Amino acid sequence: MFRIGCHISTSGGYMAMGRHIEALGGNTFAFFTRNPRGGAAKEIDPADAEAFAAFCREKDIDRLVAHAPYTLNPCAEKENVRQFAFTAMADDLRRMEYTPGQLYNFHPGSHVGQGVEIGIEKTAEVLNAVLFPEMTTTVLLETMAGKGSELGGRFEELREIIDRVTLRDRLGVCFDTCHVWDGGYDVVNDLDGVLTEFDRVVGLDRLRAVHLNNSLNGLGSRKDRHAKIIGGVMPLEAVERVIRHPALKSLPFILETPNDDEGYAAEIALLRSLRE
Ligand code: FE
Ligand code: FE
Ligand code: ZN
Repeated sequence: MFRIGCHISTSGGYMAMGRHIEALGGNTFAFFTRNPRGGAAKEIDPADAEAFAAFCREKDIDRLVAHAPYTLNPCAEKENVRQFAFTAMADDLRRMEYTPGQLYNFHPGSHVGQGVEIGIEKTAEVLNAVLFPEMTTTVLLETMAGKGSELGGRFEELREIIDRVTLRDRLGVCFDTCHVWDGGYDVVNDLDGVLTEFDRVVGLDRLRAVHLNNSLNGLGSRKDRHAKIIGGVMPLEAVERVIRHPALKSLPFILETPNDDEGYAAEIALLRSLRE
């Protein structure tokens, strides 16, 4: 099965999101678990979650890739910012259990001058505090562009965080094609080489989702500016190789391209045609 979808708005609850992605021609999607500006997240309506579960069975939707708020920085230096990471992630993981067995993606954080080592320690500390043995969710560390003091621009940094987490069997990685390219991994000319390197450092068995994005900038630019599937520096053939690669093709592909609904529907249809 080709799992393809995009990032959609959370307002209206699970059934609204399910109908929205169906209308766009997708069968998987990403959504923000809460308002990035903080505060309490809206409580989940159990009836909505139940209706959504039935809808997903009927429509063959079996992967959700929830996204933590961008402002969640588990290795922040400021104590109040870091406190938000502890409380928001713990609360998100509790709420994820309304949709059992799904994926929750987060940015490993920005160390803002404290250094990579301290950043890795702090992010691992948050994960050790919020993961719990009964959880059915897999928490994904996103590969990052390495912009500023961002962790996760190197596969080694993801591996080091994972190694420090006790419940590491609950952890996986989300492979963002714009970010890895901006981080200096040549997914256009050497996708096999990049995935071999990922396997050597992290292990391909950790890969659970792909953020399928083109980039506005060149290899290693560390800029993190997403582009549409057609209109970035990556040629369409390179995107086609990503969605057809044996190590990736069964994962959910989530578009985070700069599009409105019409643009997303067109990209989903285009990518479906490339998989045939
Ligand atoms: Fe992200
Ligand atoms: Fe992403
Ligand atoms: Zn990005």
